[in-house]
This record gives sequence, C-alpha cells and structure tokens, in this order.
Amino acid sequence: MTDIASRKPEGLPDVIRHYIDGEFVDSIDGDTFDVLDPVTNQPYIQAASGKPADIDRAVAAAKAAFVSGEWSQALPRQRSRVLHKIADIMETRGDQLAAMECFDTGLPIKQAKGQAARAAENFRFFADLIVAQHDDAFKVPGRQANYVNRKPIGVAGLITPWNTPFMLESWKLAPAIATGNSVVLKPAEFTPLSASLWAGIFEEAGLPKGVFNMVHGFGEEGYAGDPLVKHPDVPLISFTGESRTGQIIFANAAPHLKGLSMELGGKSPAVVFEDADLETAIDATIFGVFSLNGERCTAGSRILVQRSVYDEFVERYAAQAKNVKVGLPNDETTEVGAIVHPEHYEKVMSYVEIGTSEARLVAGGGRPEEFPEGNFVQPTVFADVKPDARIFQEEIFGPVVAITPFDTEEEALELANNTKYGLAAYIWTNDLKRAHNIAQNVEAGMVWLNSNNVRDLRTPFGGVKASGLGHEGGYRSIDFYTDQQAVHINL
Ligand code: NAD
Repeated sequence: MTDIASRKPEGLPDVIRHYIDGEFVDSIDGDTFDVLDPVTNQPYIQAASGKPADIDRAVAAAKAAFVSGEWSQALPRQRSRVLHKIADIMETRGDQLAAMECFDTGLPIKQAKGQAARAAENFRFFADLIVAQHDDAFKVPGRQANYVNRKPIGVAGLITPWNTPFMLESWKLAPAIATGNSVVLKPAEFTPLSASLWAGIFEEAGLPKGVFNMVHGFGEEGYAGDPLVKHPDVPLISFTGESRTGQIIFANAAPHLKGLSMELGGKSPAVVFEDADLETAIDATIFGVFSLNGERCTAGSRILVQRSVYDEFVERYAAQAKNVKVGLPNDETTEVGAIVHPEHYEKVMSYVEIGTSEARLVAGGGRPEEFPEGNFVQPTVFADVKPDARIFQEEIFGPVVAITPFDTEEEALELANNTKYGLAAYIWTNDLKRAHNIAQNVEAGMVWLNSNNVRDLRTPFGGVKASGLGHEGGYRSIDFYTDQQAVHINL
C-alpha cells in the first residue's frame, strides 16, 4: 500500500510550528510551506516558514535564557541529570521517533530505529562527558599557577541537513546544551517532522524554557537560515550540509568573526586490495553506499579495486546490488526506501543518466518497476569509471556507486585523493603495514581499516579539504561550544 493514510505514523501534529521560549508558535507573518511524503510526493502537512523576524524572536529568547544563568551556570552534574533524562525519554519513544523519521525522510524503518537509538546515545554520552570533564592547570613551582576556566559561549545557531535529521540534530544539540549554551535550531526544510518532538522531550526532562528554540524554514536570504548566520547575538554556528552552502555560510559569518564548525559533503573512497577478504569487503561496501538510501555523508561512493580481483569483484558486487531490497520505507524488510524529496530524486536520477554515458552500467540504472511513482531508485552500480568522470568527482548522495580499477598502491592512493572532498576512507587489505601507511597518506578526516562505518563517540568527527572545517565528537565538541579562559596567579 503506498497511500499516505495507511502509512501515517501516530501522533502527527496538525501543523509543524516553531518553538520559541517554551511555546509552539506560528511565523510572525503566518507563512507556511508544504512538507511532502517521499513515497507519493503528496504534501501531508504544513510547516511554519521562518523569516528574519522569527529568528530575532528565537535569538532573543535564547539570549535571555543564557543571561538568566539558570542553565548556563548550573553545575555540570545538574545538567548531566537532565541530559540523561532526555536520553531516557528518547529511548522510550524510540519507535515513535523512528516511525516519524521513516515517514518524513523515506529511510527504511529498520535503519531509522538504529538512528533513533543513536540519537539517545548522543545525549547519554555528553551527559557523562560533561561531569568527567577536567580542565588544564599548569604550575611553575614558587612562581606561578595557571588554570583554565571553561565557559559556555552564549547562543549557538545549529543548522542541519535532511539526512538522518533527528540523529544529526542530536549530535549538535547534546554538546551545545551539555556545556550550558542556549540554542536556536534550524532544521532542514525537507524533513521538519521528527524535530517537532524535541520540545516535548526537553520539557518533560526539565530543560529550562528558552534554552532550546527552533525555527523551521528555508536557508536562503530572507528566510530562516541566513539571518541566523548573520545574527550579531549568535557567536557560534554549527553547520552540517553541502560544501557549497558551507562556503556561503563561511562568507556570511566572516564579518562577525563567529566560531564555525562545518561538516560538509563527501565522495569517500573504499579501496579494496587483492589480499582483502573479498566477501567481507563486498558486504561492507554494499552496506557503505546503499544503507540510509545512500544519503549518507560518509558513504563509500567510489570503490577502487586492485586489477587482479577487479572482474570478480565487479561481478559479485553487481549481483549482490541487484539483491538489495528496494521497498516501502515502513516495511521492516526494506533496505533502500524512497529518496527524500522529488528535487533530490531528480538530482540522483540525473547522475544515473550521466553515468550511463560515462561508464559501464552493471546493476540498476533506473526506477524499480514495482514503484511507478515516488522517489524510488534501483541500487545502481557503474564499473570502469574514469577519474575525470562526473560520477567519480561529484557527490550524488543516493544509492549510486562508481567502481574503478587500479594496479599499484601508489595509484590507489592517487585515485583515492583525486577529488575535492576528504571526509572518510575505507581500506580493505590484510597487509597491516600497507593499511596504516595508506591511512597516514589518504586525505580523509576519518579512516576505517577493514571495518564498516562504526564510530566511537569519543573520536574526532570531521573532514578535510571541501568536506569540512573543524572537528566535532567527544572533547572536540566540548571545545567548540566553550571558551577556554586562562587564569594566571603569581605565587
Ligand atoms: P544543504 O546545504 O542544502 O542544507 C543544509 C541546511 O542549511 C538546511 O537546513 C538549509 O536550509 C540550510 N541552508 C541552506 N542555505 C543556507 C544559507 N545560505 N544560510 C544558512 N543556512 C542555509 O544540505 P542538504 O542537502 O540538506 O544536506 C546534504 C548535504 O549534507 C550533503 O552534501 C552531505 O554530504 C552533507 N552532510 C555532511 C555531513 C558531515 O558530517 N560531514 C553529515 C550529513 C550530511
């Protein structure tokens, strides 16, 4: 059944509103926009469309809450208790959260459940970290003692994309709030639904009003994202999204000298050497690009395979890709659901078209027959992709992968580094020395050796080159959301 009514999750609001100073509110000018169901592309709800005046209101509320000190000066243990409660509530509502996320984004329900659990874990992790936090102290015996005062900064502007939106929002909200800041969240316009659950969760957990504020809407000038970046009372912007948008935000934040954290696009290589365990490498590289509909920043969307095993790899990979199950997002057996939005679907399909003229199509290449409507794409595999092909160089952000052969380790590294991006890299080899040397030389913020994309929350997360600026994760997030003031004392 593809009709909306049979798939609508329980607890849908009538309309998606902003949340400012502890209240759900409409836009000051009353404007709204349509939110689409990715299975039918029918509008299923209206969301408030934020404008500069709404951002002003949200920032003023966040600033007042910060200045009051109720949260910003609370003891780490007090904040930690609230964050743990938030995680508890999220865990008990995991199924509801996942159902909303799946409905709004088109992600397979099974994977959406995993993302909901991860979002709760983000809060639990920062709840623990904030009480374990120690600050530096340095002593010159008999002369001077120095210590560091760590302080929340103020109002943090959090701007997030539509892929795994709830989890990515949690990734920013948890450390920003744990460290005592107030926030204004601007969720992605394609997928505002799950974000509407934050307010209830935070209220129930006892977060003081005004600490969390949210304004929905578009990013461009005259809407919600742009004025948040340019607001003089917002000293920090944490942004996740496309590299092109990151450049615009960088420029707009420059006159204010704001703190910026940028998590941007990727075109990450998975490098498979002839001595790798091929079966494991194939399973992992299938998952690496087709899970989360391929709408994953760290997707291994370029697979580089050593020539001696290339033909076998391509054949087995294509056969396995044809077995990846495309289905309705709410079906527990679905592995690839519906692409988030018709605009993005068109973009992905245009790359499928481009790929057909640039390389050899070995699996997929269009819409699955059983889904004549909606944003469904067959898992698509191109082989013999040349490094100057657009499908090798450009981020597609869908279930489409490019496979390229290489002969030597040097060539593998050169190909791996041959894009403007540098987010993640995956290396498959049983030669440990080679694995560590490639890790050292590959231009990527994160490297997985013989392993799937599984993160330890304590490690830094971020990209190099066009994939980002700065790191989040563990103490790096704490550093981003706090000032470190040095205090010097003569002894
Ligand atoms: P996007 O850049 O189009 O939008 C992201 C957010 O920025 C949205 O909320 C949007 O409204 C807002 N925005 C747009 N223009 C703005 C402006 N001028 N000022 C302020 N805000 C503005 O990205 P998207 O299409 O939503 O997300 C997909 C992209 O995100 C991909 O490139 C993907 O690789 C990247 N991504 C990166 C990571 C990472 O951690 N590196 C994680 C997830 C997604």
